[in-house]
Amino acid sequence: MLSGVSIDRVCRDPHHWWPILTKTPCGVMRMPTETSHRPGDPISDPLSSPLAETLDVAAGVDLHMHSRASDGKLTPTELVDLCHVRGIRHMALTDHDTLDGVAEASERARSLGLKLLPAAELSCQWRGQGIHIVAMLPAGVSEGFTAGLGVLANARKARSREIAHRLEKIGLEDGLARARHEAGSERPLGRPDFAAALVTAGLVPDMPTAFKRYLGAGKRGDVKMHWPELATVVGWIRDSGGVAVIAHPLRYGMTRRKRDLLFTAFIEAGGEAAELVSGYQNPNATFDFARQLHFHGLYGSLGSDFHYPGGALAPGTISPPPRSHVVPVWRHPALADFATGGSAPSVTL
Ligand SMILES: [Zn+2]
Ligand SMILES: [Zn+2]
Repeated sequence: MLSGVSIDRVCRDPHHWWPILTKTPCGVMRMPTETSHRPGDPISDPLSSPLAETLDVAAGVDLHMHSRASDGKLTPTELVDLCHVRGIRHMALTDHDTLDGVAEASERARSLGLKLLPAAELSCQWRGQGIHIVAMLPAGVSEGFTAGLGVLANARKARSREIAHRLEKIGLEDGLARARHEAGSERPLGRPDFAAALVTAGLVPDMPTAFKRYLGAGKRGDVKMHWPELATVVGWIRDSGGVAVIAHPLRYGMTRRKRDLLFTAFIEAGGEAAELVSGYQNPNATFDFARQLHFHGLYGSLGSDFHYPGGALAPGTISPPPRSHVVPVWRHPALADFATGGSAPSVTL
């Protein structure tokens, strides 16, 4: 076992899975390197293996990543290419509140022999707190789901208009157009786009100052979103024959007790899974969290929440999942096709 090190870069020749090892604060990148061939070994197709039966030995899987369709930096094609060279064989594209990148990513994944699960990371609220739910959509989406994405998109647009309106009062003319220019694409705008617009317009010297003066919590440009309720969003996913997964459950600043309440409400609404590991996690917290997931009978998922190259995370970067009784989400009956080896079936969205 490669304890205490991370596989940070790999040889780009897809037939050489030699890792370059570098130490990181915690965690081991899980790659097929540990199970696949070394040069000189006979080559069975490394891209056709089914997913592992348990989370602790899972390799070559990342079920939470972003592309330029939301706030990621890579195009869907570039993301799939990066996954490919990093030895990911089963992936999910989980852009915020949109499926816009899925068709392009699916096509690329098919051409490279990767399994891609159509998905999105949906915003909602529970007891007034923002929660992210990964919608895994192996069977496509219902009309209700599509309408739901429309509701989320409108909420974001209304918020952007309101931020622009408020920033006009401090001298930012055409704030919406300027923020759009900074975004450089048609993706939904966020506060960082407005912060960049303030910098470009010369109203603040840098991004941190933009947040400190105008866009941070409680400031003029901090417009609250009115997200749909957790149960509503889970309903859209269930309608589509999909699996609802609570994203990064340890990142909401909740006590264990409060997470129990969240899980109870989530399960009542039809939710079935949560991310056991999201990126880097404290091993002790993960170990205890696995017990909590098992107690609630939730499936466990794994994902890096990768957004852009050059940061601490890359596709497939996760702390090692502990040995536990938590059942991998890919053993959910709806994901049976995804979990197997071989090429991906096409899904109509
Ligand atoms: Zn999230
Ligand atoms: Zn995410």
